[in-house]
Amino acid sequence: MSVIPWFSIVFAQLVDRLLKRRLHHGLLLTGPAGIGKYELARALAKTMLCKSPDNEGPCEQCQSCALFDASTHPDYGELTSDKQLGVDKIREGISRLNATSQLSGSKVLIIPVADSMTESAANALLKTLEEPTDNTFIILVTDRMAQLLPTIVSRCEKHILSRPHTEVALQWLRDQGIHNATQALLDAYGGAPLRVQSALEEGASGVSYVQYQEGLETLLEGNNDAVSLATKWQDSAATIVDWLQQYAHQAYLQDNSPPMFNLYQSCIRSRQVLLNPGVNKIMILSSLLAEVKRPANRLG
Ligand SMILES: [Zn+2]
Repeated sequence: MSVIPWFSIVFAQLVDRLLKRRLHHGLLLTGPAGIGKYELARALAKTMLCKSPDNEGPCEQCQSCALFDASTHPDYGELTSDKQLGVDKIREGISRLNATSQLSGSKVLIIPVADSMTESAANALLKTLEEPTDNTFIILVTDRMAQLLPTIVSRCEKHILSRPHTEVALQWLRDQGIHNATQALLDAYGGAPLRVQSALEEGASGVSYVQYQEGLETLLEGNNDAVSLATKWQDSAATIVDWLQQYAHQAYLQDNSPPMFNLYQSCIRSRQVLLNPGVNKIMILSSLLAEVKRPANRLG
């Protein structure tokens, strides 16, 4: 199991403490979305469960590693929910932690979106964090630590994780087979490489970043009009607005032009409007695209 390169140091430190039996039973991994916190949590969980881990992590040979890879490990659980994570799910997860380990090793529970816990769910978890059973680990993952109960945060060992440097992130994306990633694309996703990855994978049904760039170029060259692009892109409206916002931001940083500042503001407003059901996406997009075109015309 390869750990995401920018987390290799923190992973090695945590594994070292695990091997020395000095790792806290409640870990909280926090930081921006899309930087790989959940993947780090899983790598840790697999190491915690492995029968013969070493400084590199899990052995990849034992029964436990095989069960983990097959997503059938009896002593491992993830608590997720489409909506809020309620007290019933937490109780169910905790009862598995309290049961005897089926493989006579550790038991691990990951809560991938810890900020989705209801208050009563958090309170139920709190008891387990305060009085842990032997060989159990709970790993909480969140993009929004401020949404967690302070008592939960104070019972966990916190790791505040950061975005990777641009070059590291772009190299990783290339290693994943994404060769057309650029700094602009990375910036459009807040510097979070895993967000870029999933956006490009989703691209099959919507507009890919490359298609967007090409479309924008034809618009600026006067070979396309705002309404037909907006019509073509309406199903990916929110993504297009994010990309346009980033475009305006970059352009404004370069030349301080007021129209780009206005476009940036319009994108923020449009992003809000798009949250309402039944809005006219073509109208919103075409008005933004017309704004993109205007300053270019003036320069030309
Ligand atoms: Zn193993």
